[in-house]
Amino acid sequence: MNEIYCIIPDNKFALEIKNLNKFYGENTKNIALNNVSLNIPVGSIFGLLGPNGAGKSTLINIISGTVIKSSGKVIVWGYDIDKHRKQSKLAIGVVPQELNVDAFFTPQETLNLHSGMFSVPKKSWRTDELLELMDLSNKAKSYSRTLSGGMRRRLLVAKAMVHSPPIVILDEPTAGVDVELRQKLWKYFKKLNEQGVTIILTTHYLEEAENLCDHIAIINKGQIIANETTNSLITKSNKKIINITLNKNKISTKDKNCLKNIGQMVIHKNKVQLHFNPNKISTKKVIDTLYKSNLDIVDLSTKDVSLEEIFINITNEHNGKI
Ligand code: ADP
Ligand code: MG
Repeated sequence: MNEIYCIIPDNKFALEIKNLNKFYGENTKNIALNNVSLNIPVGSIFGLLGPNGAGKSTLINIISGTVIKSSGKVIVWGYDIDKHRKQSKLAIGVVPQELNVDAFFTPQETLNLHSGMFSVPKKSWRTDELLELMDLSNKAKSYSRTLSGGMRRRLLVAKAMVHSPPIVILDEPTAGVDVELRQKLWKYFKKLNEQGVTIILTTHYLEEAENLCDHIAIINKGQIIANETTNSLITKSNKKIINITLNKNKISTKDKNCLKNIGQMVIHKNKVQLHFNPNKISTKKVIDTLYKSNLDIVDLSTKDVSLEEIFINITNEHNGKI
């Protein structure tokens, strides 16, 4: 990494966004971002989630300087994008959603060209290292238009890294990417994060966000409707599920009445599913109740409500309000 960017900025945020608005065209009703304020902590893996058309790419493109904001403030690594455009651009590497590779250049030429564009001194060019890291060494001298979708995605990742930025922004990095490559890319991004790089990603794979991100913001119709740590978002849910497998198909009325003390119950053959509110019933009470019953339990598992359900609830609630 370029030494200069290893220095953590005075403020603890890699990115600060204040009252950001974006209208496309003349019509101010055509609002893509509506008073967005967001602080992204240095060193985090920050997930920006939202349905199609929510404004995720618009936000990312404003941060990276390819779309002009209508109003508001964006500070990247301590640099205001209006006053210090060059420094703010140098602080970020963006992997765009569209697979737009330079068709007539080879991957090697593309990376060399970009290193030059970012004023990286020739002795510090990382072309060979990045091609190797992205498994593209054997395609180094092929025309980029001959690359497959997965290879293009990897080339775009390499391109974003030529100047070793302290912030990497990934817009739907794993869309249309096969499972093996997805895992490889995540291994790489996680390693970068361990080295101190702040990672910001948009994704519609909610499971991916749940596993990877320490912070999550949800954007809907241009507005931020949730912004917190992944843990606090998940524990916000007031639903937990217990799946019980019994030895027999029959369950006595007495046991049914006992289980009712925990929550709602769905019984199918020898399977019992209990839905309960962990904010109202303690785990101890659940265990005590099961212990006191005469149930012949052969298997038991618990399940938290997934981020996907929380996401749907929050966006539906917001849609109902506007
Ligand atoms: P997301 O990335 O969350 O799917 P986008 O930022 O691409 O959302 O789009 C947000 C809104 O802005 C959508 O209504 C979209 O149609 C609109 N939009 C995006 N880009 C343009 C553009 N270049 N011109 C006009 N409208 C646009
Ligand atoms: Mg998008």
